[in-house]
Amino acid sequence: MSIVNGKGIFDAARSGHYAVGAFNTNNLEWTRAILAAAQETNTPILIQTSMGAAKYMGGYELCLNLVQQTVKSMGITVPVIMHLDHGNYEAAKECIEVGYTSVMFDGHDLPFEENLEKTKEIVALAHAKNITVEAEVGSIGGEEDGIIGEGELADVEEAKKIAATGVDYLACGIGNIHGKYPANWKGLHFDRLKELAAEIATPLVLHGGSGIPKEQIQKAISLGVSKVNVNTECQLAFADATRKYIEAGKDLEGKGYDPRKLLAPGTQAITDIVKERIDWFGTPEVK
Ligand SMILES: [Zn+2]
Repeated sequence: MSIVNGKGIFDAARSGHYAVGAFNTNNLEWTRAILAAAQETNTPILIQTSMGAAKYMGGYELCLNLVQQTVKSMGITVPVIMHLDHGNYEAAKECIEVGYTSVMFDGHDLPFEENLEKTKEIVALAHAKNITVEAEVGSIGGEEDGIIGEGELADVEEAKKIAATGVDYLACGIGNIHGKYPANWKGLHFDRLKELAAEIATPLVLHGGSGIPKEQIQKAISLGVSKVNVNTECQLAFADATRKYIEAGKDLEGKGYDPRKLLAPGTQAITDIVKERIDWFGTPEVK
């Protein structure tokens, strides 16, 4: 199957009270690992590149080609969405031009009116090419200067205005955090999520899915979250498995230094964690 946009998939998830996972790729191994998990579970999947990962890999066109060609060479039959994660205005426009099937325009750090105007503009450009769009209101917490902040909760009125632009999915800050969660984290703000979901029919997106306990993720999904982003969890799984391989001295045995051997345990660990998350999210099999 060729890659598709996110439209039908996430609307079905919202009305069916399940979520579809969005997993960040960094290279060939990551791409293969994520696609293998989707194929083995026979479920749709979203692969995304951050601006930093795309720069690292050699640009958006290369990332798109990598995913398209890997889908083809692995004989992937489930729907795969190719998405830009946290794009600024220029990156979103470039990915629309290059042919991603979905883009996130993240204008949360702009003054609200500017976020609204630019989101409208990106929606018009993207929808003209049958590309789906994610926008963001409030902010996702994260580490800055060594301090982990909780982010800013999404304002319901602002979220309604952004949703009215016709975005296909909406990321809302509800106390979620990118990266590792601090020990004193207070948990997701379900009251705010309920208020948002009551007013907005657009599928909602939970960023920072790594490190949120399973019960909280599943509760958020039951309340209207349809897309859950996972990145750090895959990085930790890859690093752990690779470290074990090297600490066990396996790279020193025979041709254990061969990258196809050295990177295999980490790649398998990504597939395993993606499959586990697909199970948590309740993503149903493709019929
Ligand atoms: Zn995010």
